[in-house]
Amino acid sequence: MSDEQLIGGQGQEAAKIVRSGSGEATPLWTGRYYNEGHTGQDSFMDKLGEECGVFGVFGHSEAASLSYYGLHALQHRGQESAGICVANGESFHYHRGMGLVKEVFNNDNLAPMTGSASIGHVRYSTSGESKLANAQPLVFKYRGGDLAIATNGNLTNAPEIKEQLEKEGSIFQTTSDTEVVAHLIARSKQNDIVSAVKETLLRVEGAYAFMFLTKDKLIVARDPHGLRPFVIGRLGNAWLFASESCAFDTVGGKYYRDVEPGELLILDFKTGAVTEDRFSPIKQRAICAMEYIYFARPDSDIDETNIHSARKRMGRQLAIEAFVDADIVTGVPDSSISAAIGYAEQTGIPYELGLIKNRYTGRTFIQPSQELREQGVKMKLSAVRSIVEGKRVVMIDDSIVRGTTSLRIVNLLREAGAKEVHVRISSPPFANPCFYGIDTPSRQELIAAVKSVEEIREAINADSLHFLSHEGLLTAIGRPNVEVNRGLCTACFDNRYPTPVPDEAALGCGCD
Ligand code: SF4
Repeated sequence: MSDEQLIGGQGQEAAKIVRSGSGEATPLWTGRYYNEGHTGQDSFMDKLGEECGVFGVFGHSEAASLSYYGLHALQHRGQESAGICVANGESFHYHRGMGLVKEVFNNDNLAPMTGSASIGHVRYSTSGESKLANAQPLVFKYRGGDLAIATNGNLTNAPEIKEQLEKEGSIFQTTSDTEVVAHLIARSKQNDIVSAVKETLLRVEGAYAFMFLTKDKLIVARDPHGLRPFVIGRLGNAWLFASESCAFDTVGGKYYRDVEPGELLILDFKTGAVTEDRFSPIKQRAICAMEYIYFARPDSDIDETNIHSARKRMGRQLAIEAFVDADIVTGVPDSSISAAIGYAEQTGIPYELGLIKNRYTGRTFIQPSQELREQGVKMKLSAVRSIVEGKRVVMIDDSIVRGTTSLRIVNLLREAGAKEVHVRISSPPFANPCFYGIDTPSRQELIAAVKSVEEIREAINADSLHFLSHEGLLTAIGRPNVEVNRGLCTACFDNRYPTPVPDEAALGCGCD
């Protein structure tokens, strides 16, 4: 998109089941990540929690290995557990464990996973329940055979369906929405798995990218609003499916197209055929705007829009809307760097690495005291004194959630000698919780829900503060202006949810 399309300023603001090895992977430390990854419970790194990531393969002799590498590329979407299930037309073989992909898988457990189709998952937990039983792919036995399910997203009506099923005698073994779906499929009167999946998806509401693996079929489906990203790739004659296109690049594949909202694809082991079907018409298209702003990797494309480029445009638009005379522009690593580059390009103010992320801190197994928690931010992020000292700094960040991290980062810059710190946020104020698989605090904990912009400025100790406007965001993302809200969900900014949403207190993430 050209700069001309930017808009003007607004007042300068988861046969037989074989388990690998001795069974499930040995649970690793199941505490909270300290200094690695993001978790919503991690109160000192106050960022939104990613949902989960899925990666599927059909028609490749090394399906499990491809999933392993693909999941590596999606690690930013979930660091709590990882799993892969592979099918060879006769049997399932799966392995799951707590921890990062590199911690869960090794040559010994990957080698027996032979088959030409696989589904893989990296999970992010939001409920505080960190246990192996919830790691995906979840694998079930039902009258039709064996079924593995991996999903990314959240089913907004899962609690009521679960309550109903429990009244009718169903027994649940996990706290996952995915098990609700498995029960609905198992109880379906339909004679074939495809019809049972369609019937089930018509009963659930919410945001999802589903992969269902049986011994002879892979079925993928995306919610009718297309809330969560889900893309199709090719690797030779094989088919790939992933939450983000960056995973295709990692395995040498190529992006083919996005899974359409309401679409169902059936890939058959016996015939090798790929059938394009749907379980629902497209409803109001509403891809998550936060994928563009913060979650997705900069090298991913969503609906043919590159994430890095979209973030740069957000930065440029922010400069148009909220210019401030300053000496340097710096971005909070990593997700805000693209927007900071855009802001610098638009204003001519030089972009500098005023903030550095320490990538080699790894995990620590010590639960930090309050004092050390404060120090933790410094272990993860440092202000570069020789760059910021005596300077008027424009600090670009993608969002403010509770405000605690922003305050600490502003103070880091001040302690390093910055003369002025002007904060510019490449999204509108985040004032409403997400019901679609993103871990957000309650409404009362969202600083933008309870304070004005000026009050937030004061709370984060900034010299000035501006948020990107809603219209500026839509324009910068650059989707065609032919659908409601340009086909985006922006509910966390404007409280306009594309689906009915229940009592927020009753919900967690469907990946749990
Ligand atoms: S509410 Fe916000 S975070 Fe949730 S799907 Fe919509 S845009 Fe994304």
